[in-house]
Amino acid sequence: MIVMKMNVGIDVLIKKLYERNPLARDIVEKIHELAGRIEGYDRIKIMNFCGTHEWTITHYGIRSLMPESIELIAGPGCPVCITPGYYVDFLIKLSFEEYTVLTYGDAYKLPGTSLKHIRSLYDARSKGASVEVVYSFYDAVRKARENKNRKYIFFAVGFETTMPTTAEILYRGEVPENLVVLSAYRFTPPIMEYLLNEYSGDIILHGVIAPGHVSAIVGSRAWEFLPKEYNVPVVVSGFEPIDVLLSIYFILKMLRDRRPGLINEYRRVVKPEGNLYARKLIAEVYEVIDAYWRGIGLVDKSGAVLSKEYSSHDAHRIFGLEEKEYKDNIPGCKCGEVVLGLIKPTQCPLFLRACTPEKPYGPCMVSVEGTCRIWAENIPLKL
Ligand code: SF4
Repeated sequence: MIVMKMNVGIDVLIKKLYERNPLARDIVEKIHELAGRIEGYDRIKIMNFCGTHEWTITHYGIRSLMPESIELIAGPGCPVCITPGYYVDFLIKLSFEEYTVLTYGDAYKLPGTSLKHIRSLYDARSKGASVEVVYSFYDAVRKARENKNRKYIFFAVGFETTMPTTAEILYRGEVPENLVVLSAYRFTPPIMEYLLNEYSGDIILHGVIAPGHVSAIVGSRAWEFLPKEYNVPVVVSGFEPIDVLLSIYFILKMLRDRRPGLINEYRRVVKPEGNLYARKLIAEVYEVIDAYWRGIGLVDKSGAVLSKEYSSHDAHRIFGLEEKEYKDNIPGCKCGEVVLGLIKPTQCPLFLRACTPEKPYGPCMVSVEGTCRIWAENIPLKL
């Protein structure tokens, strides 16, 4: 039986949006007016990179408020979704040996590449492996300090937003010897560049809503290459419905004026240069590598391992892990196409059938930032 406890009708979502945000109706009207005045496009495709933007768009029914000619596409901005399955396989193996694996709750049910009974760290723990959920890297450090006779490995999943916290503790020399870090950290601007280069025929983008949290670290200037090199207008956006609607409006305005540029709509949080202290920590503690993105491929200069100075804590170096092209798509799962914005979750035959938030089959259904999970929990659907 399909359980869809959170779904309500689209009219309820929109009523909620307008009640909470009286300006939203005006901006939506302006979007319709503008869309009617933009020439030269059959369809305008705008990609929101970030899972949290996807949540805002889906939860408030913003897609249904758009004119026919505008399509909002979810991008690869869910770090759990793009974390390689072979990292999970490796951690499952270690968790049955001498290590305790420390993971965020978000990655706990992330499937590896095996289709057998132990697919995730969650499954491994239920079979007696040593796996624990932590809330932060501080939490991991505390556990390792309190149990000096055990070996721990921390599964570090995330984008630029989560990298500085781990970096700061390493930088201060506060990480005990019995704790190593498997860095699945990924940098976001390189993946946008990769999408525009590698999939230029398949993915046509006319505008990008850039991630607000990531930009608070890397700075809005990190996205300048989109208008400069690809003629794609970009808006760094906050996460309230009003922020997202305004960002769409600004993109349309730039398209109408044929002047692609960079607008920072999230100035209350994001500076052009970002957070200089966090950027310094990232540059100091990590080494940039070509890294594999699940379902996408090996992307130049898009990943981070710990730099040589911290090599005694770096799982890539300690265990000789290599980044490589890898076929880790799960049979029947179309998550690779979902994260590239090539299809919608509802186009996967397993969506809310064999793959649900309660029992995720593919990676995009695991995390609260995964597009499939967001759609499953927020979209009114008739199945
Ligand atoms: S619904 Fe599940 S199986 Fe289908 S693409 Fe999404 S994560 Fe993969």
